[in-house]
Amino acid sequence: MKFYIETYGCQMNVADSELVITILSTAGHTLVSDINEAELIMFNTCSVRAHAEDRVLGRISNERHRKKANPSLMIGVLGCMAQRIGKRLIDDHLGIDFAIGVDQYDQLPQILSSGIYKEHIKLDFDSEQVYPDLMPSHQSKTCGFVTIMRGCNNFCTYCIVPHVRGRERSRPWHDVYADVLQAGKQGLKDITLLGQNVNSYNNAEIDFSDLLRKINEIDEIERIRFITSHPKDLSYKLIDTMAECSKICEHIHLPLQSGNDRVLNEMNRGYTSAHYMSLITRLISMIPNIAITTDLIAGFPSETDDEFRDTLSLMQDIQFDYSFCFKYSPREGTTAASFPHQIAEEIRLARLQEMIDPQREITLSKFRSNIGKEVEVYVEDISKKDANMVSGKTRDYKIAVLPGNSSDIGTLKTAIVREATAGTLIC
Ligand code: SF4
Repeated sequence: MKFYIETYGCQMNVADSELVITILSTAGHTLVSDINEAELIMFNTCSVRAHAEDRVLGRISNERHRKKANPSLMIGVLGCMAQRIGKRLIDDHLGIDFAIGVDQYDQLPQILSSGIYKEHIKLDFDSEQVYPDLMPSHQSKTCGFVTIMRGCNNFCTYCIVPHVRGRERSRPWHDVYADVLQAGKQGLKDITLLGQNVNSYNNAEIDFSDLLRKINEIDEIERIRFITSHPKDLSYKLIDTMAECSKICEHIHLPLQSGNDRVLNEMNRGYTSAHYMSLITRLISMIPNIAITTDLIAGFPSETDDEFRDTLSLMQDIQFDYSFCFKYSPREGTTAASFPHQIAEEIRLARLQEMIDPQREITLSKFRSNIGKEVEVYVEDISKKDANMVSGKTRDYKIAVLPGNSSDIGTLKTAIVREATAGTLIC
């Protein structure tokens, strides 16, 4: 069967889609990149915000016409949205043949070959599921994602993830090591280790710092990245490891969410703004050229204007290289969705804009501070805007373009930054 897969949401979903490709390819099915050739269309979905779900519903609705022309065509929904509302999706007769949750992907070949896929739902959580012995089918020729753990135990009050991805479990360290080695042998030099909270990785007395040190020894790879870190679990041991291991890139994504302690407590984040600042101070003192990015939420239930201003103030103090700013999106089933004093949409939107505007200025000045400096770029592709330029990322996770051609793809180049926008270094 020819299958096509469309992926939404975070890198965990990208990695899960690569796992599904391995599972189906091993069972004799063939991945196609053109949806028109597909006998099976799958959407790997995200539930983090209502907007993400609406986009997928729109896409499913757009593709329904194909089933009229070709009744044997199958459409399946995978991932967080399947887990959250898979039954509803089937019951609503949207033209979906099956919904498979995040712990059941290895059941896919069986479901397809049994012929009982019509309106099939497989959504059980499996607290042990780590998909052992399955190497992901990396779709990039340069950068690879390797999942080191699944699920989350933190239950931040706004977050749907623990409800749709189950409890935290770490993959055996030797499986992770084997996946990274294999990716390196395939020519992927830039590896991102993935988990909802990589800082709490633990397997057979190997913690995340230990894992990083082992991976740092793999000759075939040049760069190590990881997401996502949690401020309550980011240890000084890990910061020291980042400073000491040459392949760990000078970038950390450390979600702050709010700069106000009462709001952080309502979010069940488990740290204070002072603790967060102490981590930033330590990171900068140990890794002076580190880039720090974050996630921020505007308009969490009961957030006052003064409390929101604490977030703006901390943004100025820290000067994040980039912030992913979101207005609070209530998710059915989460604790915060039933909190009293939900903030009106127009206030959430206004606060969001108040975050985005200064961050744009900060990001621009961060990018411009690189002008005249030498950067190392791992070339990933031909530039989309200029066929005589190539594009890639710096070690501190900034997109850079420089003169080059297709023979440069997959190589590390050094270049001097000539100009900068708020999204690109131009060398
Ligand atoms: S740490 Fe919090 S925000 Fe992150 S996935 Fe877990 S519950 Fe969600």
